[in-house]
Amino acid sequence: MSRPLLEIKDVTAGYGRISVLHDVSIDVRLGEIVALIGANGAGKTTTMMTIFGRPRATRGRIIFDGEDITDLPTHEIALLRIVQAPEGRRIFPRMTVMENLQMGSIIADDPAVFDEDLEKVCTLFPVLKKRRDQRGGTLSGGEQQMLAIARALMGRPKLLLLDEPSLGLAPLIVKQIFAVIKELNSRHGLTVFIVEQNAYHTLKLADRGYVMVNGRITLSGTGKELLERKDVQAAYLEGGGEGALREGASP
Ligand code: ATP
Repeated sequence: MSRPLLEIKDVTAGYGRISVLHDVSIDVRLGEIVALIGANGAGKTTTMMTIFGRPRATRGRIIFDGEDITDLPTHEIALLRIVQAPEGRRIFPRMTVMENLQMGSIIADDPAVFDEDLEKVCTLFPVLKKRRDQRGGTLSGGEQQMLAIARALMGRPKLLLLDEPSLGLAPLIVKQIFAVIKELNSRHGLTVFIVEQNAYHTLKLADRGYVMVNGRITLSGTGKELLERKDVQAAYLEGGGEGALREGASP
């Protein structure tokens, strides 16, 4: 088994006096795709943002690559090359595709590799090459999501965090994007932590997954094990969980 890259250990966190996360423990090993699934408002985004210290864990520890990052300032955590691809509409809308990608490369901080990285992301998402001079805000939803992921990749992440990459996208585009994530992982060894409501595609993609309900981890297992569980199917795959999707269902 590979070594742990990210360890979230018994973390409690919230906003003001309200705790949203309760004793959350998740680990992501080098080379894995790990998913966190849960309904709307379960605390998935908060979990992801807690890695960056926004909000801070009030209990528990967060360890990245053997280093305790729980109390590090957010900008120092970003420098460790934990890179988040936010939900697609949070690209820079007034900047061109190329400028967005240049912004992403700031974290990598190595101008010598810019062209090489650009070529790589344009091979993964050929449409971005076609749209390179177009403003981000004029792209379709799917293209914006691709740009968000491509921008994150330009930062040469050690750990890629994906926040709801399927949100609001047509099933065909979701399939396309998830196929690229799979390729990044299997071919390039990229470690990925993905937070999603779209349980079906995500658990199919993930090596392991965690289920979050009201800020607590209630289940964990391999993606396959979770997909086969009747309770997960009932809550997240058959319309029981808000926003949960089956293959082919409209988002
Ligand atoms: P979604 O899929 O809707 O984004 P989620 O599982 O990612 O849901 P979070 O966004 O982490 O859930 O929200 C968890 C809870 O924390 C919700 O009750 C939400 O209202 C609350 N919350 C989120 N952000 C803040 C904030 N900045 N200030 C106060 N409460 C917040």
